[in-house]
Amino acid sequence: MPNPDISIVVPLYNEEESLPELIAWNKRVLSENGLAYEIILVDDGSDDRSWEVIRQQAEQDPNIKGIRFRRNYGKSAALNEGFKVCTGNVVITMDADMQDSPDEIPGLYKMIRKEGFDMVSGWKKKRFDPITKTIPTKLFNKVARGFSGIKLHDFNCGLKAYRLEVVQSIDVYGEMHRYIPFLAKWKGFKKIGEKVVEHRARKFGSTKFGLERFVYGFLDLLSISFITKFKRRPMHFFGTLGSLSFLVGFIISLTIIFQKIYGISQGLKVRDIVDQPLFYIALVGIIVGVQLFLAGYLAELINLDSNNKSEYQIGERIGL
Ligand code: UDP
Ligand code: MG
Repeated sequence: MPNPDISIVVPLYNEEESLPELIAWNKRVLSENGLAYEIILVDDGSDDRSWEVIRQQAEQDPNIKGIRFRRNYGKSAALNEGFKVCTGNVVITMDADMQDSPDEIPGLYKMIRKEGFDMVSGWKKKRFDPITKTIPTKLFNKVARGFSGIKLHDFNCGLKAYRLEVVQSIDVYGEMHRYIPFLAKWKGFKKIGEKVVEHRARKFGSTKFGLERFVYGFLDLLSISFITKFKRRPMHFFGTLGSLSFLVGFIISLTIIFQKIYGISQGLKVRDIVDQPLFYIALVGIIVGVQLFLAGYLAELINLDSNNKSEYQIGERIGL
C-alpha cells in the first residue's frame, strides 16, 4: 500500500469528551481536501473511557489506529510511539483537547510538500490560556530561542508538521516534546518554519501540566543544549574547565611556595602558608580541576562503549 499523504498523531491522556469531536473534525477537513490519511491516537494510560472511544472509532474507519500505554508515561513517550509507526509523507501532531484547530492541516501540509520545509511549528500568537501560563511561556520561548538559535516563537505548540523522514530520525525521550525543533535541528533538518495558528480555549477536561512545567522545561533546555553540543566530546567541555581550574590552582601554589622560600632566604617574617586565603583558592582549584578532568575522562569512556547507532543522519546517496 502506498504511504498516505498525512499521518495525524495525537497524544492523549484522559480526553474522552474531546475525542469524538476531534476525530470527526479531522476527518472532515482531510476528506474535503482529498488527502489520504491515517489518524494515530496514542492513549497515554488514560483512566477514563478514552480507549473505548478510540476502539469504537477504529471500527468505523480503518484509517483510525490506536496505541495504548499500560500506564501514563507522558506526552513525549506518546509522541515517540506515534512517530515509530506512522507512514504518512507528512506527519502532523496535534493535542487531543481541541486547542489546536484541524483547519490548519491543509496549510501545514502545503508548507511541507510545496515549500520544502522539514518541519513547521505552529505559533499560537493569540492564546486562550490563563495569564499564569502565557507570561512564563513568553520568557521560556525567548530563552529557548537563545539557546537553540532556532527562530521560533512557540516551541511547545502541540500542532506541528514534519516530513516523514524527520520524525523517523528523532527520538523524543524524557519530556523533550518541548524541544522537538531542537532535536530536528540537531539531526540536520535545518529548514524549520513557523505558521501562525488559531488557538482555542480548552473545551473539555483540564490541562495535564502544572506550573512545574517551567522548572522542568528549563532544566531540559540546559540538558539538551549541553547534549547537542558535547555529547560526543565531553572531554572538550570538562577537560577545558578542569585544566583551567587546575592551572589556576597550580600557578597560585607555585607563587605561594616561591614567596615563602624567597621570604625565608631574605630573613623576612613570613606568614604560614595555611594562613593565606590564596592557599585555599589554590587547593580548591586543583581539586575541582582534577574532578572535572576525571568526569570528562569517564564520560569519554562511556562514549567509547556506547555504539554510534543513529548518531548521524545520511541525507542522500548516489550510486550506493
Ligand atoms: N498528554 C499526554 N500525556 C500526558 C499529559 C498530556 O498525552 O501525560 C496530552 C494531552 O492529552 C493533550 C496534550 O498532551 O492531548 C497536551 O496536554 P494539555 O492540553 O494538558 O497541555 P497544555 O495545552 O496545557 O499545554
Ligand atoms: Mg491543551
